[in-house]
Amino acid sequence: MKLFLTRRLVLTLLVLIILAGNIAFLIAQFPLAQSSSMVRWFFWLIYALVTIVAAVSIELIRRRYVLAIGRIRDQLRQFEQADRIGMIMVDVDNELADLVTEINHYLTNVRFRFERDDLEHKELQLQASVSETETRQVEAVIFSISDAVIVTDKYDELLMANEAAQELYDFCLDRNYRSPIDQVINDDDLLGLIRRGHRERSKNIICQFERVHPVSGKKLDLKVLFSCVLDADGQVIGGVVVIHDITSEKEIVRMKDDFVNSISHELKTPLAGISAYAELLADNEADNVAAHKQFCRVIQDQSNRLNHLIDAILDSSRLESGLLKPSFEPLSVAEIIDDVAAIMRPQMQEKNIELAISFESDDLVIYADRDMIHQALLNLLSNAVKYSLAGRKVSISADRNDVGQVVIEVQDQGVGIPEDSLEHIFDKFYRVPQNSNLAGGTGLGLHLVREIIQTMHDGQISVDSRPGKGSTFTVTLPGHHSLQVI
Ligand code: ADP
Repeated sequence: MKLFLTRRLVLTLLVLIILAGNIAFLIAQFPLAQSSSMVRWFFWLIYALVTIVAAVSIELIRRRYVLAIGRIRDQLRQFEQADRIGMIMVDVDNELADLVTEINHYLTNVRFRFERDDLEHKELQLQASVSETETRQVEAVIFSISDAVIVTDKYDELLMANEAAQELYDFCLDRNYRSPIDQVINDDDLLGLIRRGHRERSKNIICQFERVHPVSGKKLDLKVLFSCVLDADGQVIGGVVVIHDITSEKEIVRMKDDFVNSISHELKTPLAGISAYAELLADNEADNVAAHKQFCRVIQDQSNRLNHLIDAILDSSRLESGLLKPSFEPLSVAEIIDDVAAIMRPQMQEKNIELAISFESDDLVIYADRDMIHQALLNLLSNAVKYSLAGRKVSISADRNDVGQVVIEVQDQGVGIPEDSLEHIFDKFYRVPQNSNLAGGTGLGLHLVREIIQTMHDGQISVDSRPGKGSTFTVTLPGHHSLQVI
């Protein structure tokens, strides 16, 4: 207030001084004053003094203004250089103070808006990165699932397809992104399903197609699910197709049906034998001791066969369910092979099959479950005998390979296995159609062998076979240093 009054006073005084100077100038010009040169000079002097005082005051005021404006400009430049908005801090006691207040008010508003925009920008960035992460996660899920997935937009243009879909329909997503789906996929069934789904705005349509795989040429059974993607207003914004390959599921169902047929046949045959011979015995048809004995032997054989069949089914399900745990111990390979050979000798003699056994050394040792390995080798040797014609040779050899594993080979000169059956030979219930007339079986033996060797003992089993020439089954098991119990 004091400063304000002083400033006003100075300005008023200045105006008064200028006024007085002008009056003095007029009086000095006035004819009355010209009569006395003293008076005239006096007025001229006053005029000169007033002019000097006024000029000096104006200059001082001008400098003050220039100085304050310079400080304001410097502070604005500093804000610009520091890329921030601050308040102008200048000590001015004239009209510039109002200007500075206005500028500060404006700057405060700008800073507030700037901070608000910055906050909104950061929020948008956060939302963008969240939705980008979500998109990546969805993509990762879609790309990691084994089913083929195709995503289209509302114009039926390709938006996304995982590797399984690209392989199945032989196209590249990068090259066909946003292309009309009917130009990318050559499958009328699938295209028809997508069109129908869009037309009906359907949430779920399930169909089954058959399709030939473009690379392997295999016939595939496909279960296809189409779902429309709708927005909040119920408008179609796209569609998702999920294609599940049910070829192997169908194959398993078919194999199970075959198994049920074959198992019922296998069970019925010995049962029929047992029942027939039991009836003969009951009717006293065995009129002598020899016939009686023979009937009993048939019943015994058929019961054994039945037993064997049921054991195979139970073993297989026990192994798969994990109920049967291996009990590991150091085992002599030679001993096990001798035991297995002894069991098979009667059948081999019956078919006049010669068995050759060879070991690298007698002290080959594996760390394994005795009963399981015994069962696996028995299955292999029994198959070698079963699928060999009379008079052929079967051999078993055991050796140690470079990395210390024990390699057991069961080789025969039998009927062999056709190439297209080789990949199924260890599948549950699989029987080679061409060989099934040669001997009865369940298709469980090799499946059991693989479970025992690979799942239970961390070993490997492979087969090499040529139709008409014979087969070689190779079992590789981790070796063990000695028979001493650990
Ligand atoms: P199975 O009880 O039918 O013998 P396996 O699982 O032991 O069942 O064998 C599956 C199929 O593999 C057999 O049906 C047979 O056709 C074929 N097979 C197995 N071993 C041999 C072999 N040594 N020689 C020829 N075919 C074999």
